[in-house]
Formats: sequence, structure tokens, C-alpha cells
Amino acid sequence: HTVPVALPGKSYDVVIGRGALGDQAGRIRALTKNPSAIVADEEVWKRHEKALRAVLPDLPVIEVPSGEKSKSWAEFERVSELLLAMGVERGGSVVAFGGGVVGDLAGFCAATLRRGCKLVQVPTTLLSQVDSSVGGKTAINTRAGKNLVGAFHQPSLVVIDTEFLGTLPRRELLAGYAEVVKYGALGDEAFFDWLEQHGGGVLTLDDAPLSEAIAKSCAAKAAIVADDEKEAGKRALLNLGHTFGHAIEAEGKYDGRILHGEGVAIGMAMAARFSVREGLCPPGDADRLERLLRRAGLPTRLADMGSIETTAERLVDHMKQDKKVESGALTLILLRRLGDAFVAKDQDPSRVLDFLAEETHLP
Ligand code: NAD
Ligand code: ZN
Repeated sequence: HTVPVALPGKSYDVVIGRGALGDQAGRIRALTKNPSAIVADEEVWKRHEKALRAVLPDLPVIEVPSGEKSKSWAEFERVSELLLAMGVERGGSVVAFGGGVVGDLAGFCAATLRRGCKLVQVPTTLLSQVDSSVGGKTAINTRAGKNLVGAFHQPSLVVIDTEFLGTLPRRELLAGYAEVVKYGALGDEAFFDWLEQHGGGVLTLDDAPLSEAIAKSCAAKAAIVADDEKEAGKRALLNLGHTFGHAIEAEGKYDGRILHGEGVAIGMAMAARFSVREGLCPPGDADRLERLLRRAGLPTRLADMGSIETTAERLVDHMKQDKKVESGALTLILLRRLGDAFVAKDQDPSRVLDFLAEETHLP
């Protein structure tokens, strides 16, 4: 599969499939003819160095410790200084090899190195394959919060080789699958139906359904990004499940007790239940969403994450701190039905509080 991302003056391809890395060797080499370097997640490098070396035998590599803590000022500085010492120049590329952490960090380095050099994304987690490698958002974390310093910087090529998912821990795979479900829920009921049929094959990594699901997800993201690159409107739909989800993640203190995709799964189910409670969405649609997530093995309720203790008040406070807040009222992404999400501005926090009070008391 090839999914084009159409952006004036900076269009690029997302190439998806088993063996895509080898198939794209010619294009990757062409993009790295000028001095270039690889930035790799150290765990991914340990397992998959050979595969990347078969395509790029001579590029220098910078290994980055795996985990969210690498999206830091300190790593940004270290990697940038190394890229400069390696002579990476404007006509060259940074090749990001790993999950969303390395993609965001290396992407931000590429965005700022010599005011911008090229970026090639070779994502290795399902989450990064369906979400973070496409669309051009790059960032690091700061003391004030996640992703608060960054840049829009589109890659020149995204190569998604599904082979890498074979070594991904099951829990990480499921977390990425939550974002796949998101694309169906927010804008494509036919894709949601398809996932109800073929989701099992995606999760057992059968090549045909897996590549199909990734391609559909990337195409959905590409269409939204082409329409609204800098998130002036429609791109916000991609945050379905994320405002509730970020609040839940924050209560897990971003320490790995709850993965981003798990927060999104619970957050999407909450957004759907809140939509039902507000009379906006038929209950059957929220049930279908919850069933699909649970069947995959994803959590849909706070109680599913046994170790997380919180209150409705704390969750609403986090939601207010989330960057999607405008003047006290909350902006949420809600559902009219499956496949039809909308940006709901000016949501009354007290109604959200009542809803969460019920939710947090659920068994
Ligand atoms: P990650 O990059 O931390 O990877 C998860 C874990 O899997 C890591 O421990 C990593 O070492 C390991 N791993 C990666 N590939 C592997 C493989 N093939 N085999 C075995 N292990 C492997 O996490 P992630 O879920 O990929 O990304 C999360 C990050 O993405 C967050 O920082 C989030 O903010 C960011 N993100 C960015 C965007 C965007 O638009 N830029 C969108 C969504 C998420
Ligand atoms: Zn997400």
C-alpha cells in the first residue's frame, strides 16, 4: 500500500507492508546521499539493526534510551550536538527508527537542525505506524507538560514495515490498536464494521488485514492533515478520547502504569458514554465501541486499571489543564454516532464532573 499525504510543496508518501523497508531501499538511499544519520531507539536497534543496516550500511547511528523520558531537553541537546558533529547538513536526512518517542525527538531535532533538514520516519510500534509518524507533529516534553515544545515538520518519506511488529510486546500492540479503532469511530463507520470482522487478524499480525488496517488509518490521518495541517479545526477530531485519556494518563503519572493507547481506549469509551448521557449519540453505538475495545483486550473503564486511584474532581482539573481548554469551558470531541465525531466547544465542566462522578463509582 502507498498512501500519499498531499500538502502544498511538501507532499510525501507513506509506504506500508511486510518488507517495505527493503522495497524502499532506493528511495531511502536517495534521501540520505548527503551527510545523514540514524536516530534509533536502543531496544529497537538491538533487535533490528540488521534490517536497517541492510538498507543503510554506512550511516552513523545515535542510540536513544527507550522510554518517554528521552523526549527531554537533555536528549534534544545531546542528539542535536551529535548530529552536527556527524556533519549532518540541510540536504541530508535524520532517519528516525523506533516508536513515537524517537519519532518525536528525532523529528524535532530534524525540524531545528540548521533550521530544518529532511526527516525519514521508519516507525516500529503500531502506535507510531498509524499515528505519530504521519502528520508532521514533533515535540519534546517540558516540566510544564507533555509535547509543549515542538514544531510542525513533515517527513520526506514514511516507511512502515509490519515485520517489526513481530517483536513488539502485546500490551504495546494493543495500545496502538486503540488508535486504529479511533479512526473508525471518529470518521469511518465502514472501517469500524470492517474492524469488527477483521480486528482479530490485525492483532495476530496476519499480513493482509494488518497492512490494510494500517493503510486505512494512515489514509484517514492523511486526509485530515491535508485538510488542516496546523490544527485550526478538523484536525482536533484526532483527539477523540484524548482529553479524558490524558487526564487518566496524568493520574498514572506517566510512569508506565497506563500506556497512552490504554488511556485513549478508556477515554474514547468515556467520550461515547458522555455523548449518550448528553442525548447526542444512540446508546447502541457506545456499546459497540466498548465491545470492540474489550474484545481486543483493551480497558474501557477506570476500574480496569486497578492501580489508578482518582476522583472526578481530579480528572476534571486535569482536563482543564489540557491544552484544548478555552476559558473555563471544556472542548471535547464527542460522537453523534459511530463514524461521526464532532468538536464540542463550551462543554460545561459541571456536567462532565457529574458524569465522571458516576464513572469513578462504577465497579
Ligand atoms: P515508544 O516509542 O516509547 O515505544 C514503546 C516501547 O516499545 C518502547 O519501550 C520501545 O523501546 C519499544 N519498541 C519499539 N519498537 C519495538 C519493536 N519493534 N519491538 C520491540 N520493542 C519495540 O512509544 P509509542 O507508543 O510508539 O509512542 C508514544 C509517543 O508518541 C508519545 O511520546 C506520544 O506523545 C507520541 N505521539 C506523537 C504523535 C504525533 O503526532 N507526533 C501522535 C501520537 C503519539
Ligand atoms: Zn494518541
